[in-house]
This record gives sequence, C-alpha cells and structure tokens, in this order.
Amino acid sequence: MKAITVEPHRAGSAQLEDVPEPPLRQGSILVEAVAVGVCGTDIEIVEGKYGWAPPGQKRLVLGHESLGRVVDPGPVGSLEAGELVVGIVRRPDPVPCPNCAVGEWDMCTNGRYTERGIKEIPGYMSERWRIEPEYAIRVESSLGLLGVLLEPTTVVTKAWEHVTAIGHRAFWEPRTVLVTGAGPIGLLAALLAKQRGLEVHVLDRVESGPKPDLVRDLGATYHVGSVTKIGFQPDVVIECTGVGLVIADSLRVVASGGIVCLTGVGSGGSGSQLPLADAASEVVLRNNVIVGSVNANKRHWYKAGEALARADVSWLSRLVSRRSPPEKFADALARRPDDIKVVVQFAEA
Ligand SMILES: [Zn+2]
Repeated sequence: MKAITVEPHRAGSAQLEDVPEPPLRQGSILVEAVAVGVCGTDIEIVEGKYGWAPPGQKRLVLGHESLGRVVDPGPVGSLEAGELVVGIVRRPDPVPCPNCAVGEWDMCTNGRYTERGIKEIPGYMSERWRIEPEYAIRVESSLGLLGVLLEPTTVVTKAWEHVTAIGHRAFWEPRTVLVTGAGPIGLLAALLAKQRGLEVHVLDRVESGPKPDLVRDLGATYHVGSVTKIGFQPDVVIECTGVGLVIADSLRVVASGGIVCLTGVGSGGSGSQLPLADAASEVVLRNNVIVGSVNANKRHWYKAGEALARADVSWLSRLVSRRSPPEKFADALARRPDDIKVVVQFAEA
C-alpha cells in the first residue's frame, strides 16, 4: 500500500512510497484512510526539525489527525464495518508514570510516551492502518469528512477543561474570552467558548480572507492588531500563536483573577517587551494563572466528539479550506495565506 513517510531530522525526505500492510500487532481493527489533517507539527517533521522513527527503523509514517472507515472491526469492541473512526494519537509510556497509569497520558511526567505519526509509532497517512479498540473513537456519520477536525478539537477541549478546573479554585463567573490566533486551534477554541455561553473575541493579524468571516459567523468579534487595543479585560485568554509579544500583551490585559492558557508553541523573540519579574508581579497582584496545555486523553476525545456533533456543519466545513490527494502531499504541506485546515484526502467520506 501507499504511505507518506519521512526520515525524521532529515529535511526534504518526505515521500509517497510502497510500504507493507499494517501488521496485526498495531491493532485488531483494520481501517481504510479517508483523510489526514496537516498541522504545524507535520510541517516541522518534514522540515527535519522534529519527529522520531520507530526503534530500529529509519522512516516514520507521517500523520496524526486521522479519519478512516472501518474495513474489519475485528473480534473486540463495538465498531462495525463502514463506520467512520479516528485514532487517538498518544500512547502511555511503558513504565508507566502515575498519570499514564490512570489513562491521563496527556499529563505524562517522564516523557517516554509515544505518538502516532510523531514519536516512534507509525502515523495515519497510509492507505490502510490498524488501531487498538481502546484507542479508536467512533465519529458521527453526519460529520463525514469533518471528523478529521476531531484531533485538533481534543486539544482545545483539554485546554477548556483545565481552564474551568483552575477557575473553580475560587468564586468564578467568567463572561469574556479572548482567543489569540484564528488558525484551526483558535477557531475551534472559539467554537467551544461559544458553546460555553461566553462572549467571544478572536484576534489575528490578517484583515481579509476567510478568518474574519468565520469569526463573525460564529457570533464572535474579530480584532486585528495589538492585544492591548482590544478595549476590555478578558476573564480568559486562550493563546494559540506562541508569539512572545502576543503572550506578553495577554498577561497585561487579562482581568483580575483571570486565566491565560498557552497552547501555542513558539520560540525566541525579544524578552524586552515584558521583563519576567514585572510580569510575575502583575500575575501575583491580580491572582492570575498562566497554564500550558498540550495533547489530550480519552476523556477529551469523547467530549470533543460531542462538541463537534453539536456544531454547525456548514461552519465547520469552512475550516477545511483545502484538500490534496496523497500524490500531491507536498502541496498540502506547503502553507498558503488563506489556509485554515488542509487535509490529505485518501478516499471519499
Ligand atoms: Zn507517562
């Protein structure tokens, strides 16, 4: 079968090639691929900056934002042939650490977890893949291709769960949220904020293209420019850019008792915008919390599926802005200005 593979830490090594059928030890459920979403992590892996091949192997099958159709459900579990399914990305570490031992592998403490398409286990960009019943999540058939949005939705589902848990450390009645960055993660974070009945504001640097309309059609307010000019103090900031200045400004504008949840992964930048001790003083004097959030566990996958099933399908469908066949995977991996979520499509949903 065909698969998109890469030699990690070697830039430009990605290719569509013939690989063996997925082995039974990968899982008792056989799935034919429908689509795989592309995100910044995939681009970093292809650029040679990230990623690990399985032990003893040179190449890694790419892709972690899966959607497939069950071909053979195998002897265990309740899935049936023909149903749409996605595969969970992370697997617990082998020790396991206490968090992995209780199924909260998103909070793994020793870093020895593995991840499909990223770290030591094959991804989902192959014509067929296998999955263990306990790591397979059924997708509502009404979502069709939009099931490919489940993985990014799990990331923001976890972020919101943690923000809510932190908020309840004291009396908490949040009203406003600022989401920085209107990419897929930001837009899905905004969707979940609307579902929580909050007044939602989204800030991005682009003034045209699909993002402003998507935000407005969600019933949220779109902002361009500096976070310090938004004109209010948000109770929650979901930071999805990883940009130093945006993070620093988020700490400046967040309301007293407010929470800044960091989901973006960036690097570098000038530290002069907000010296760390000054930032800490503001956080102390206003009881703020800064929290980082990454990955998701099975509970978040389940909740994310519920959230997507409740969302407006026509709005969601506008998030999938471009599709490429596997032979043109390089097009999918090349960023274009109006991209939101680009997918490699293997088959019709
Ligand atoms: Zn662990």
